[in-house]
Amino acid sequence: MSADAYTELLRALPADGASALSVDAPLARCTSFRIGGPADLLLAPTSVAMLAAALATAQRIGLSVTILGGGTNVLVSDRGVRGLVVRLGRAFDYRRWEIADDASSAVVEAGASTRLAKLVAESVQRGFGGIEFAAGIPGSVGGGALMNAGAFGGELGNVIDCIAGCTLAGEVVDLVRSRLDFSYRKLALADALVITSVRFRLARSSTAKLRSTVQTVQAKRRTKQPLGFPNAGSIFKNPAGEFAGRLIEQAGLKGTAVGNAQVSPDHANFIVNLGGARAQDVHDLMSLVQGAVWRRSGVWLEPEVRLIGEWDEAASASTQMSE
Ligand SMILES: Cc1cc2nc3c(=O)[nH]c(=O)nc-3n(C[C@H](O)[C@H](O)[C@H](O)COP(=O)(O)OP(=O)(O)OC[C@H]3O[C@@H](n4cnc5c(N)ncnc54)[C@H](O)[C@@H]3O)c2cc1C
Repeated sequence: MSADAYTELLRALPADGASALSVDAPLARCTSFRIGGPADLLLAPTSVAMLAAALATAQRIGLSVTILGGGTNVLVSDRGVRGLVVRLGRAFDYRRWEIADDASSAVVEAGASTRLAKLVAESVQRGFGGIEFAAGIPGSVGGGALMNAGAFGGELGNVIDCIAGCTLAGEVVDLVRSRLDFSYRKLALADALVITSVRFRLARSSTAKLRSTVQTVQAKRRTKQPLGFPNAGSIFKNPAGEFAGRLIEQAGLKGTAVGNAQVSPDHANFIVNLGGARAQDVHDLMSLVQGAVWRRSGVWLEPEVRLIGEWDEAASASTQMSE
C-alpha cells in the first residue's frame, strides 16, 4: 500500500476520518476462525457519508475494496488483504421499529452491523416472529443478508423487504425486494454493495411461543455443532439433496488435519482451528476434502466460507496431512 493511498483517503473523509482509518490492521481478531493477516487499510466508517466518500475515493485511485461483517463466514489469508477493508462499526448498530396500526405486523430497519442475535432477541421480546430460526447464527445483519443466512428451513431472504447500501462508486442506493435475488446462501447483486441497513417484515406472534422456538433451535445447535474451537460454521454448502457433512464423513475424513486445522470429529462439515492454525492450513484441508469427496462420491463440494486475500496452491496438502 502506498502512503499516497492513505493520504488520499484521509483527505476525502470527514473530520473524524483519521480515527476511523487504521494502517496494517490485524484481521485475525475480526474473524471467528481467529486466523488471517493484516489489512493494508481498515476503515470503520462512522456514517454513510464517510463510507460513500471512502468508496468513491478508493475507486478513483484504483484501490481494491473488501467488505467484512462479523467475520463468521470468512477465511482471511495469512498474507492479509491488500487495499481497503471496510468493516461497519457501532454507528451501524441500531434498530428502528414501525408497528402496523393493528399491531399485526412490524417492519424493523436494522443497521448492518447489528448482531443477528441481538435482532432475534429484540424481535422475540417485542412478540414479532419470522426470524427466530436464526437464533444462534453468529455474525451481523449485513453479512447475514449477503449470505442469505439460514437454518432449520428458514432463510433471511424470506423476511427481507429492502436493503440499503452504498455502491463501490460511492452511490447510496435502496434495493426493494423485487430487485433482490436470494438463493441458497447467496444474495446475487448486480453491483457490489456495502449493505448499510436491512428492513425485515415480521408478523405478530407471542413472546412465549417465540422463546420456546428459540430454545429448541439453540438446543439443536448445541448437540450438532462443535463447541470449544474457533471455526466459521459450515465450511461447504450442502449439494442439492445431500449433506456435505455426510459426504465428508463417508470419505473417512473426520479428524483429518493439516497443520492445526482439523475436520471436526463432532461435525464433519466444520473445520476447527485447534490453536495457531494458518489460513493456508484451512485452505489446504478444504482442497484435500474436496478431492477425497470427489473421488468417493463424484460430488464437488462448493465452499460456503468466503475466501479473502491471496492464496498459494494446495500442492503440498497431502504431504502435510496427519490424522
Ligand atoms: C458457529 C457458527 C455457526 C454458524 N451457523 C450458521 C447457520 O446455521 N446458518 C448460516 O447460514 N450460517 C451460519 N454460520 C455462518 C455465518 O455466521 C453466517 O454466514 C453469517 O450470516 C455471516 O455474517 P458475518 O457478518 O459474520 O459476515 P462475514 O463472515 O463477515 O462475511 C460474509 C460475506 O458477507 C459479506 N459481507 C459482510 N458484511 C457485509 C455488508 N455489510 N455488506 C456487504 N457484504 C457484506 C462479506 O464480504 C463476505 O463475502 C455459522 C458460523 C459459525 C461460526
